[in-house]
Amino acid sequence: MDDIVPSLLEKIQSDFTAQSLASNKLKTALKSLKSRKADYLTVNDFAIEVGSILSSVFGDNITADVLPDGRMYYNIAERILNPAMTNNFSLISDFSSEVQVLLNESAGINIRAQTPDINQSRIDGIIDRLADAEDFEAIKWILDDPIINFCQSVVDDVVKANADFHYDAGLKPVITRRLGGDACAWCRNLAGSYEYHSEPDDIYRRHERCRCTVDYKPDKKKRQNVLTKVIRDVTEIERRKTLNLRE
Ligand SMILES: [Zn+2]
Repeated sequence: MDDIVPSLLEKIQSDFTAQSLASNKLKTALKSLKSRKADYLTVNDFAIEVGSILSSVFGDNITADVLPDGRMYYNIAERILNPAMTNNFSLISDFSSEVQVLLNESAGINIRAQTPDINQSRIDGIIDRLADAEDFEAIKWILDDPIINFCQSVVDDVVKANADFHYDAGLKPVITRRLGGDACAWCRNLAGSYEYHSEPDDIYRRHERCRCTVDYKPDKKKRQNVLTKVIRDVTEIERRKTLNLRE
């Protein structure tokens, strides 16, 4: 039997590129980066747009009638989803890094922008669900919102990586969750600004079609209390010593 993957992947990639180049939302995001006005809300718009484009390209090209036995076998799912989603991760992560550089510079913070690792287990989860279903029709919904949700979570991971780094450098990061779209009671309850490490456990969680955003704007003036920082550093040194002893 012919291997459908190479031509299918090529079509997905070229459709994705064409639609991305034509996207006004992406143009707007890139423009605001260029004029140094971009922040994490811009990054969120960017992520949702590349997620929506990929999801609709999947929908146009992956249909039960092109799949053998109308099912998305593991070796097909894996060879399509991995490169396509990794590409989206890189686009979002690169864009976020540039925005973080801008935010650091604007705040006068001389620190490198951090990039997170790709969350491969989320991608694997989607691939497994696709491969497990005997009928593609029954599982095709997973190529809709969950793809966009994955893209939003890349932004969260960038926020987390940078807020973490700033916290370790003695700053006092504040992260903000804002409502987006139709906000339910659960989301309204989570919305707000939190000092780093005092945020609710669910701050990065999203239900289906949730468009709430989590963002971070560094502020050099917000610093940790010197005494708290000393205690924290001493504890950290002790912890490392104990680790060394164990090894
Ligand atoms: Zn929400």
